[in-house]
Amino acid sequence: MPVIEVPEKIRCIMEIMEKSGYEICAVGGCVRDSLLGRTIHDWDLCTSAEPDETESVFSKAGFSTIPTGKKHGTITVLWNREPIEITTYRIDGTYTDSRRPDNVTFTRTLEEDLSRRDFTVNAMACGRDGKVIDLFDGQKDLQEKRIRCVGVPQMRFQEDTLRILRALRFAARLGFQLEEKTAAAVMEGKERLALISPERIWAELTGFLLGKYAAPLVKDFYPVLAASLGMKPPYGKGDWIAAAECLAFSTPDGWTDWMVMTARFCLLLWKGAFPGFPDAGEKARDCCIALRTDKDSRSRVAFLVEQVEKPIPQTVPELRRMIGGFGMDAVSQLIFMWEAGGVIDKSEILHLWEQSEAILQREDCIRIGQLAIGGKELQKLGIPSGPEIGKILHDLLEEVINDILPNEKDALENWVLQKLK
Ligand code: ATP
Ligand code: MG
Repeated sequence: MPVIEVPEKIRCIMEIMEKSGYEICAVGGCVRDSLLGRTIHDWDLCTSAEPDETESVFSKAGFSTIPTGKKHGTITVLWNREPIEITTYRIDGTYTDSRRPDNVTFTRTLEEDLSRRDFTVNAMACGRDGKVIDLFDGQKDLQEKRIRCVGVPQMRFQEDTLRILRALRFAARLGFQLEEKTAAAVMEGKERLALISPERIWAELTGFLLGKYAAPLVKDFYPVLAASLGMKPPYGKGDWIAAAECLAFSTPDGWTDWMVMTARFCLLLWKGAFPGFPDAGEKARDCCIALRTDKDSRSRVAFLVEQVEKPIPQTVPELRRMIGGFGMDAVSQLIFMWEAGGVIDKSEILHLWEQSEAILQREDCIRIGQLAIGGKELQKLGIPSGPEIGKILHDLLEEVINDILPNEKDALENWVLQKLK
């Protein structure tokens, strides 16, 4: 019988509730991740007490509470300023919008609360003693690396269609398979994703793309991903499988999550959704607009999908111009996409990485701001302030990037004086 190590602060909170006569336990992600030995983000607690009762217990015990989501049962308790959420056991009412229950009803039994949860691995709880309460064989599914709905999958996805993408996200993150009936229901329910708000879809998609094990799921469930992007069948199977293969490439060390996520999303769009489309960049932008992504993601994704088909820099000046113009992060995403997409071979990729690194290490001048002279010096040479200054600086940068001029004050000034003659 596995026992979960419940942190001291959580045990204290549980004790306070229990001493007042209520049940309380940790539930969901913290139990799942503890059993898997993964890092735990937060401890979600659930209780038989109604929100008013939770508030009253903790204010009597001298703690501040915040009615975060009181209507839905959630009260936040501040434990040394750290927020801890406690939610009343509840049953979800009927669903008419494929997303949210029309109403929630509080209940005094844990079993009812656990049975409304999405997957067996997310429907386990544990008490103050750390003993696992597992009513739906979640532990077996954890061991056998399986995402399985609690209850009848079709119904569960009909109630809340977002669960379809949650299933894929958890599988991608944990390296699990979807249980057969769950998998079939995921495929069957995909068209209803059109009813879900784009922001929610994007949030799940980004989580999915960051999953270490997303690639094989793309292969098996590409119609679901295509549907989540608002596409209509037929979907080009070969293209999506190619996209899945690209996704299997590991991203370079040191990338931020955002870089990994946007680069992978671009691979999906470039190879799977819009393969060989002359306007793939525009299509990618439209797709981001429809998903209401943040602006930065939208411009990076549109940029990369457009740029990835353009000529690859062949010389150091070309590479300098690219890094100077786009920034190293975007260029490294492009190099990764060229590699993953099999656009150029390994040795050329290596060469690009080495050259880029050398450009940065030598601190080659690749931007106007790095030139040894600026607008002020040009004015001293007699050039009036205005657009002419910008143009000359731009020309100077070209000469330096092309190794025609060294980035030195005298050399640059002489060049300008020559031009003025
Ligand atoms: P993560 O590490 O991604 O936060 P988590 O399991 O904590 O994983 P949350 O989305 O934070 O996931 O949800 C907390 C718990 O609430 C889940 O473990 C699950 O039991 C339940 N839950 C969340 N969303 C749903 C849903 N749409 N349908 C049913 N149960 C849900
Ligand atoms: Mg969570």
